[in-house]
Amino acid sequence: MCKDKICIMEVIEETMADGPGLRTSIYCAGCSHRCPGCHNPQSWNMKNGHWVSVDDLLGVIKADEFCNVSFSGGDPFYQAEAFTELARRIKEETSKTIWCWTGFTYEEILANAQMKQMLQYLDVLVDGPFIQEQRDTQLHFRGSANQRIIHLVPEEDDYIPGTVPLVPLR
Ligand code: SF4
Repeated sequence: MCKDKICIMEVIEETMADGPGLRTSIYCAGCSHRCPGCHNPQSWNMKNGHWVSVDDLLGVIKADEFCNVSFSGGDPFYQAEAFTELARRIKEETSKTIWCWTGFTYEEILANAQMKQMLQYLDVLVDGPFIQEQRDTQLHFRGSANQRIIHLVPEEDDYIPGTVPLVPLR
């Protein structure tokens, strides 16, 4: 894995599906959680994706003045170093918020030195694997009831049912 490029499935601009408001969503390739019932099993294999530089992704994100940003997949934490670099630059060069979806739990991320780095640049983490038995189509921005919408910064105040307020990391 490298820090300068991210293997992605696609970038969707001006979507309202991945968090509140309009967002630029980066759907990455690569996921080893293999949740039964996964919405996007094509994304498991990185060979189904293509590599895009962090610079180019940042260019797409910055080109839209109004959209915030979402990371999804696949699982961005399998490319934690490059996504951390992208998130760092988004925070340094824009005022956009970042939501990130992952099949890892918050606690698993905290226990991993590499993955933990990304948390400092995220506003909201939606965590945990998709569990078919807990599937609930009424949930906002998550597929199963075990998954949590975790606010990592106090200023991210869009209220979403199911939100888990945690002590901010920064
Ligand atoms: S974490 Fe998400 S992308 Fe990965 S297998 Fe589970 S549902 Fe699919």
